[in-house]
Amino acid sequence: MLYYSTRSLNKKVTSSEAIINGIAEDGGLYVPEYLPKIENLKELLDLNYKQLACVVLNKFFTDFTKEEIKECVYNAYNEKFRSNEIAPLKKCEDMYFLELFHGATLAFKDMALSILPHLMTTAVKKHKLEKEVVILTATSGDTGKAALEGFKDVEGIKIIVFFPRDGVSDVQKMQMITQVGNNTHVIMLEGNFDDAQNGVKEIFVDQELKDQLLEKNIILSSANSINIGRLVPQIVYYIYAYMNLVRNKEIKLKEEINIGVPTGNFGNILAAYYAKQMGLPINKLICASNENNILTDFINTGVYDINRKFKTTTSPSMDILISSNLERLLYEITTKDSGVVTSYMNSLKNKSAYKINEKQISNISDFYGDYAKEIDVTNAIKEVYEKYNYVIDTHTAVAYHVCKNYKNISKDNKKIVIASTASPFKFAGSVYRALNKCNYEYNDFEFINKLSEDFNIDIPSPIKDIDKLEVLHQQVCLKSTMKETVCRMLKV
Ligand SMILES: *Cc1c(COP(=O)(O)O)cnc(C)c1O
Repeated sequence: MLYYSTRSLNKKVTSSEAIINGIAEDGGLYVPEYLPKIENLKELLDLNYKQLACVVLNKFFTDFTKEEIKECVYNAYNEKFRSNEIAPLKKCEDMYFLELFHGATLAFKDMALSILPHLMTTAVKKHKLEKEVVILTATSGDTGKAALEGFKDVEGIKIIVFFPRDGVSDVQKMQMITQVGNNTHVIMLEGNFDDAQNGVKEIFVDQELKDQLLEKNIILSSANSINIGRLVPQIVYYIYAYMNLVRNKEIKLKEEINIGVPTGNFGNILAAYYAKQMGLPINKLICASNENNILTDFINTGVYDINRKFKTTTSPSMDILISSNLERLLYEITTKDSGVVTSYMNSLKNKSAYKINEKQISNISDFYGDYAKEIDVTNAIKEVYEKYNYVIDTHTAVAYHVCKNYKNISKDNKKIVIASTASPFKFAGSVYRALNKCNYEYNDFEFINKLSEDFNIDIPSPIKDIDKLEVLHQQVCLKSTMKETVCRMLKV
């Protein structure tokens, strides 16, 4: 299996090269030349998470040996996860929350970022690169910490994370600025997530910088979901959830389900789309946005238009206007026409908008798009608690609201799996306020304790007493000085 750039079909690379490079030279994203099929669903029924991960990864990362994949998988999904199942399902009538937050940093980013460092170091060894890899990452809050945890103290790799200073929760910020590890750098950016992501993308395609770095034996790579090494491991849990439903006799083998995903950068839902293309019986992919509802508009009208106000919401990991991974969907729905994808991306850059044609609109009919307003999020958290005695986080609440609406409008009564992307403790303030109607001005750390005490849930170990940790990173930078900052850090 080889990988193309979404923006040109000329140059193919192997999976290990795609993982090392992160992003293609032309600024496009790497995509697999075809989506491999699941030949026999039944065979997957009795596999545990690690075994299933091996099966899926072997189909995509074909220049890794089976032993290499196995080692990566077993090093990733180990006791760092607080659930033996890795990704358990919580049933609430005909909706099932797929809990993806039992890893080191309490968000679903751990599912892929636990394994990416292993894939990356294996790939580097394979190519006998003998270079230092610098992971450059922009984060809306959760990726940064998950990447820092995954890559800390990994030999031959440095990691630099930019996060928007005022765009992340207190807990997210504290998680990052207290990060240990002798190869970790964390920088606060005066701007929003899109600024951070654009800045990082510009650094990636800066040929002059690339040459300077090469002289110093350094190559840049990415831990964002633009890296195919992050996307593929995310396919695994959708298949796993499906098999879990079959095993528990909630559905019959081959029965279709719907999948709801709280969406930001479009990585997580794209993995579900890939799973569908591979043959997993999925009917609708329910794309749930918060008030930054650009994807809702795109799915319903075919117009992607970022000429709108950026909003800061209680689901900050979805406060995004430029959903990078949509480029990979465009590639599929234009039947792999890299010329058309390039023209849309240029239009996005120059006119801040693009419009797909009727045929392409019909090719996204697998998706249902809608969004939740802030009040809907509060109500969803309350409703799920009152009905099921179960506390969900703000991002998951966005998806719950949209999925419930979908069910009411469509009368489609297929079972729905909702990607539960974060622990409620990660956004304790918003969750507690939703459940308690209180306006007390606690800080986030006090809210963690309140949430635990009042609702009788244990605080997950990684954030216990996080406010008492030593702050190790305090550097601030501007949009215009991101490159300079990176250069200074790497001494070029
Ligand atoms: C990153 C994130 C999302 C959005 O996922 P994408 O793959 O960027 O669409 C949703 N919820 C949480 C908690 C996240 O951390």
